[in-house]
Amino acid sequence: MYVYFKRDAGRFFTRKEFLDFVEKKTLKTIQKYNMLRYDDKIAVAVSGGKDSIALLYVLDKIERAFRTELVIIHVDEGIKGYSDLSPEIIANHAKKLGFKLYQTSFRELFGYSIDDVAELYLKGLVEWEPCSFCGEWRRWALNYLANKAGATVMATAHTLDDFAQTVIINIMRNSLPRLLRFSFSRERPIPGFVPRVYPFLELYEKETALYTHLRDLEHNDEPCPYAEYSMRWDLRMFLYEQEEKHPGLLFNILRFHQNLLDKAGERLIKLGKCIVCGYPTPQRLCRAHFLQRYVDSIVKNEP
Ligand code: SF4
Repeated sequence: MYVYFKRDAGRFFTRKEFLDFVEKKTLKTIQKYNMLRYDDKIAVAVSGGKDSIALLYVLDKIERAFRTELVIIHVDEGIKGYSDLSPEIIANHAKKLGFKLYQTSFRELFGYSIDDVAELYLKGLVEWEPCSFCGEWRRWALNYLANKAGATVMATAHTLDDFAQTVIINIMRNSLPRLLRFSFSRERPIPGFVPRVYPFLELYEKETALYTHLRDLEHNDEPCPYAEYSMRWDLRMFLYEQEEKHPGLLFNILRFHQNLLDKAGERLIKLGKCIVCGYPTPQRLCRAHFLQRYVDSIVKNEP
């Protein structure tokens, strides 16, 4: 019985064929972009959602053949009814797989949860939607945890859909430096950051979701209540519809970005150090600490 039709390849898959396809495609992607080395300590960023749980199990399978060590890193965003469901799920997987787990939260690192920020946003006191804080703080916190774990590399579960969205968002925001900092391999490391790799780069989100479902892996299936406020949400729907009509469109966005990196890459990246944490940044403050101070100033002046 077939479980999946891959439109861009025009091919049906049985359950076994599909699971093999996801695992082999991930391995090929790792090799194609030189993402991992045989003796790496890999920090796998796990949110508890379907994509990151799939990544954990696919990497566990692939990396058994190498001398690599896997650890899990997890950041609690502080979103009631959503992020508070993940820690137990992740702890269960860590125990089952025998991986060490490193955790922290936004509240612990920045003094605020995303629920706190969302409350200010909904009162009209904060200019940017919760996802803007969440994305920056998560990036910082994952790097912090990966450093704490002594990892040589961090693997995240970003899929082809995520990349295409990020490329378009950076174009819409006229943010060329961000677009150029966003690399797929370890060939352009940024000092101070644990290199990030994306083994699901050439898989669709629906494929990683199906993998989790077919393997019957426990995961957090609740939607985030703040997703609808973000630009990414609308864009996700738009790109999804376009990909259905024009299979291969998301890959074209990925290739466009790769060509751009090849042509313009290194020269435009100039980074200093954040005066709070010392992390690389083009400004005086890294974006994560800029946003923390921004919320501090609003809370201080709140009536
Ligand atoms: Fe954070 Fe936005 Fe994702 Fe919710 S949808 S977890 S607020 S980035």
